[in-house]
This record gives sequence, structure tokens and C-alpha cells, in this order.
Amino acid sequence: TIILGIETSCDETAVAVVRNGREILANVVSSQIESHKRFGGVVPEIASRHHVEQITYVLEEAFNQSNTTWEKIDGIAVTEGPGLVGALLVGVNAAKALAFAKQKPLVGVHHIAGHIYANRLEKEFEFPLLALIVSGGHTELVLMQEHGEYELIGETRDDAAGEAYDKVARMLNLPYPGGPQIDRLAELGQETITFPRAWLEQDSYDFSFSGLKSSVINTIHNAKQRGEELKKEDIAASFQASVIDVLTTKTVRAAKDFNVKQVIVAGGVAANKGLRNALETSFAELNIPLLIPPFKLCTDNAAMIAAAGTIAFEQGKRSELSLNARASLPLK
Ligand code: ATP
Ligand code: MG
Ligand code: FE
Repeated sequence: TIILGIETSCDETAVAVVRNGREILANVVSSQIESHKRFGGVVPEIASRHHVEQITYVLEEAFNQSNTTWEKIDGIAVTEGPGLVGALLVGVNAAKALAFAKQKPLVGVHHIAGHIYANRLEKEFEFPLLALIVSGGHTELVLMQEHGEYELIGETRDDAAGEAYDKVARMLNLPYPGGPQIDRLAELGQETITFPRAWLEQDSYDFSFSGLKSSVINTIHNAKQRGEELKKEDIAASFQASVIDVLTTKTVRAAKDFNVKQVIVAGGVAANKGLRNALETSFAELNIPLLIPPFKLCTDNAAMIAAAGTIAFEQGKRSELSLNARASLPLK
């Protein structure tokens, strides 16, 4: 099976061609980060316009790279949500137009299912499987008993991990996106400040990062009022230590509680070096196989959408040409 994937949920225009859900034939990503940088975040209107301008070029490039022709494409998978609705619409409409014109089956894919399936481009899944999703908009623990079945066992009650990174980075006057900047500074600093860890109820797999964010902001503010200048590196290291501690501890507890055969990590924050190291150490000790995608597959791309879409196609799922973009969409 060869599936064409299309992803436009946020600020990356992406098209990919994937064989059998595991082999990347092409993975083209056009990032808009430069256009949004001066606004300190993604501007939805600008994102939509960029997608419209880029999509045909990105599609053409994906065909060039993969040496594929339309005859070889078995289906089209597109991110239907969640995300920015104006951005999603560009991908959904492109996918519908192509499905109609080329007479190919179409399937809508959940963006987070895509992040999860980025891992399968590296290694075959083994169930039960626990997925830690840490992205710009999501922080979730998902249990999978089989392909295409997702049970949400925990999620953030306020900010997503990536959102917290971006907000703290903004406080430190670091350029957008803040995650990689904090990651870089944290390596150079020490945990000189003990920021709070939001453990929530004893048996909860939920997360909360807004208290931590406020604590960082207050600490910076109070130091300034005392005329003290805290080292950015130390703030970054201290903030990151709190995030990693909570993410790692809860993921380890869930992996043990559900006796999983594999743990996978997905989403942009999975690119974080400190988090990768902490998870690798913990799961090596426990002897539970851990899978973290290479950097390029952690952030938004269309190979992951094609990978998740392949499973949907194999399970007989199809979308009508009335498929619509959905700003919010539950994972199921
Ligand atoms: P969602 O997938 O929830 O819709 P999104 O697609 O915007 O959100 P991703 O593209 O998966 O999110 O990830 C982007 C996020 O990852 C940003 O918040 C960014 O700061 C963060 N991020 C990227 N690299 C790193 C890093 N090395 N350390 C920490 N955070 C990082
Ligand atoms: Mg993004
Ligand atoms: Fe994403």
C-alpha cells in the first residue's frame, strides 16, 4: 500500500508518501516559523495564507522525491483535526480535490494519531503500548491495546508542555519557538531553583503546567524587584527539571500499572534532549523498550499522517468527500 499524506494543522505545510505505513518514500515539510517569529507565535490568518501558497509546490516536491505516479497511490490521508480550522481546511480541501480528481479513497486522520504513528516509521508496535504525547497543544498519556485504538488515561488540565516551554521562553525574551531555545540553555545551566511539581491526586495520570509557568514568571519578577539578575541558563535548567520530573515519573508509573510492552514518545517536545535522556535512563532500568522518533519526525510532518492513515485504510475506514476540518476532535 502506498499512501499520500497531507498535514496543514498548524504552521507546517507537509506532504509525504509512505509505503506500507512504515517506509518513507518522500517527506516534504515547508515550515512557516520565520513568518511567525516576529509575532512571537503562530498567527492563524498568516498560517492559512501560507498553506494556500505552499501546498501545490510541496505536493509536487513530494512526487518528485518519491518517484511516484498517481497510478501507484492507493489512498490519500489528511489531518482533519484538531488544529487551526483555517489551516486544516487547506489540507482537507486539497485532499478532497485530489481524491475526487484522481478517484482515490480518502481518510481523515487525527493529528495526534499521526504523532503516535511517527514512531512506527522507526519500529513496529507491540501492544499493549503506552504513548506519551508532548506537543505544542497536547500533553497526554494514551494506552493502545491494538492498532488504531486509543484510550486516554491522562491529559493536561491546563497548559500543554510545549505551550509552557514557549511561554517561559517568551518571559526570557527568547525567540519563537521557545522549546529548542530552553533546551539549549538548560544544558548550560544548573537547577538552582526548585520549581513546584504538579503531581495532582496520588493516582492521577493527569498533568498541569500552568502553576509551574506562574512560578517561573513570579521568580523572575521578584528577582528583578530585588535588583537581582537570575541566569537564564539556570532558570531554563530549573524549569526543565520540573517538567521532565513529572513527565518521566507519571509515564513510568503508567507503564508499570498497565504492564505495557512498549513506550513511545510523540510530539514536538519529544525532541527535548533532557526529556529523551531521562526517559531513556528510566526505561532502560525497567527493561521496557522505549521508542522516541528522530527529531524530524517529532515535529509536524505528513509522513506520520500517512503512517496513521495506512492503518485506518487497512481497517476499512474511509471518509466521504463531505469531510470537514475540525478545530477540536477527540482521539478515538
Ligand atoms: P499539536 O500537535 O498539539 O497540535 P503542534 O503541532 O503545534 O501542537 P508540535 O509541532 O508537535 O506541536 O510541537 C511544537 C512544540 O514543541 C512547540 O511548543 C515547541 O516549543 C516544542 N519543542 C520543539 N522542540 C523542543 C525541544 N527541543 N524542547 C522542548 N520543546 C520543544
Ligand atoms: Mg508546529
Ligand atoms: Fe503537532
